[in-house]
Amino acid sequence: MQASYGKTDLSEFDEPRTVVIWSSFMAGRNLEREILNSGQPLWAFKLKLEDTFLSKFNNPVALDVPGYSYMKEQHDRERAALKAFFNDKSITIEEYDKIAFEHHKRIKSEFLDAIASGNHELVMGYFNLADTIGHLSFGVTSKMRLIYDELSQLVGAVQARYDYPLLIISDHGMKPVGRFGDHSDYGFWASNVKLDLTTPKITEFADIITTVMKHKDAHKSDRT
Ligand SMILES: [Zn+2]
Repeated sequence: MQASYGKTDLSEFDEPRTVVIWSSFMAGRNLEREILNSGQPLWAFKLKLEDTFLSKFNNPVALDVPGYSYMKEQHDRERAALKAFFNDKSITIEEYDKIAFEHHKRIKSEFLDAIASGNHELVMGYFNLADTIGHLSFGVTSKMRLIYDELSQLVGAVQARYDYPLLIISDHGMKPVGRFGDHSDYGFWASNVKLDLTTPKITEFADIITTVMKHKDAHKSDRT
């Protein structure tokens, strides 16, 4: 539980598409039309550093962020595995989960290393474990509890070691469809900084992050 939290408003988008939402989050403006009209495949879209809020920070790191530093091959593998499961059951749910977990471990260790190095004014990581596993198992409460525990522990590991503003934010939520899962049309945010927000748009966070980080020492006593 953080000092402030709530839902995000995604109503400005036709659909909660991961690449569109993260790109718009990073740019601080709605890029849906621009991306869909760009003529290139959705997952190939890439913003330049100077078009994102990251450019306002010294030596920023953004790991595996869709629309920016996304590891396309890995996620192509995940999507191919998902298709293989639904098409002909040529892979099992356990094999599918393993692909997602191995990638998660890699990003988690790079993320914690980047924070521990002290070399970056801002570190961002994209963790798609709940989304990827959720597609085949969101209705399996016991498994999803383990996934959320893993993500909570990651947040706990960061908070225990560093006194720093933290934002946890999703592109979209998930809803169960039988044992499977699909994207829901709003997301969630939480922060260890007291932020006076009700249901912010995802495109508002670029300014919020920049403002909070530039005044982070003033906010120190507010943090949990
Ligand atoms: Zn998904």
